[in-house]
Amino acid sequence: MELRSPESFWLLKNGIPYNYPSLQDNIECDIAVVGSGITGALISHTLHRAGYKTVVIDKRDVANGSTAATTSMLQYEIDVPMHKLATMIGEEGAVTCYREGITSVEVLEALLKKEGIDAGFERKRSLQVAHSEKAVADLEKEYHYRKEHGFRVEWLSSAEIRERYSMESQPGILSEEGASIDAFRAAHELISRNHAGGMQVYDHTPVKEFQYETDHVKIITEGGFHIRSKRVLFCSGFETLRMFRKKYADVISTFACVSEQSFGLYPQLKDLLIWDTADPYIYMRTTDDGRFLVGGEDIPYKYNPVSEKIKSRKTGKLIKKVEKLFPTLTFLEDYTWAGAFGVTKDGLPFIGEHPDFPNAIFVLGLGGNGITFSVQGMELVLKILAGEDHPLLHYYRFDR
Ligand SMILES: Cc1cc2nc3c(=O)[nH]c(=O)nc-3n(C[C@H](O)[C@H](O)[C@H](O)COP(=O)(O)OP(=O)(O)OC[C@H]3O[C@@H](n4cnc5c(N)ncnc54)[C@H](O)[C@@H]3O)c2cc1C
Repeated sequence: MELRSPESFWLLKNGIPYNYPSLQDNIECDIAVVGSGITGALISHTLHRAGYKTVVIDKRDVANGSTAATTSMLQYEIDVPMHKLATMIGEEGAVTCYREGITSVEVLEALLKKEGIDAGFERKRSLQVAHSEKAVADLEKEYHYRKEHGFRVEWLSSAEIRERYSMESQPGILSEEGASIDAFRAAHELISRNHAGGMQVYDHTPVKEFQYETDHVKIITEGGFHIRSKRVLFCSGFETLRMFRKKYADVISTFACVSEQSFGLYPQLKDLLIWDTADPYIYMRTTDDGRFLVGGEDIPYKYNPVSEKIKSRKTGKLIKKVEKLFPTLTFLEDYTWAGAFGVTKDGLPFIGEHPDFPNAIFVLGLGGNGITFSVQGMELVLKILAGEDHPLLHYYRFDR
């Protein structure tokens, strides 16, 4: 499965910062983490620091799956509006899931600070605008719902948006809590630090078979070696969905495009995440090196890999939309790419155990908030391992 087109911006910008050996021996550990994207990096960090003998394996280079393609906006707003989520999982659940999004941004910020990792983390406000006049009423309802539940939101009219951000759009919700990051760099730096601290990491190590025994899992690699592990933690991204008999999520292809540096971007956009409610939607942010990054135009995942023709048509549409929102801005394209994305009906991830896979735990940060969900996974896996409960495990369970 192709998780992204070859020329993702983060990979071109950062190169491959760290390489690891492939597995060439039989080993044992407490927990084998399969996958070294942002999820595997965060989860293995937690496990290693909690004292578990942790091994990370990946069939690709570190962080070369979706994490190399992400636009890395950190938002508490889930793809499904809070008032709609409340009709699916109840008001308490919706409020809890939204609040946890805010906590995740704080947790990630504190973690990067503590580890001294510069991964372009920047605090930003988040502006969600209606895509049409018809969509305004629903978004305004969402605004009131969030306000009632104590979220720091402001309703901006079109005139206010124009005045503050030089943007021509329908009204929208301005939220205080948001951020952006370079998730590729964050994953690499975290894994490298823990590797230096004794965590074993093997890249280019594809798995041939997982054997689920009563008290351990045996992972047999294509190279003919095996890992005997008390538990296996699947942080293996959207490809993991193929393991299940049931379809838990739809996979889509999404497109992204980053501008040249210093092309006359309005300074007032620097500390802002922007997205609209259109389907397919569009979202925008700046990067820490002065570019404008735009993503969206999702389509069902069936082009493997996405052809150059589709990619340039889709990113061309994204640029046109940006220029419609900012009529005096000329977006100078530098790099474009496509990536795979998993979408659930309620916008929530799957984190927890699954009856078909004994001794396995899954952290599948699906949806447009995959990264904040992976951050939440850090606490949740420790709870599962300790045999304790957590309200989120109920909302993120497989049999919901
Ligand atoms: C264009 C785009 C924009 C996005 N925008 C945002 C955003 O703004 N905010 C946000 O929060 N999220 C966003 N996402 C989603 C986000 O990128 C993902 O949630 C996140 O990167 C998933 O990280 P991961 O570590 O779970 O998966 P991945 O990065 O895909 O890592 C999984 C790893 O597992 C490895 N693997 C899989 N199977 C095996 C196996 N059997 N054996 C060994 N290794 C295996 C893979 O090689 C891969 O390296 C976006 C995604 C895309 C594509």
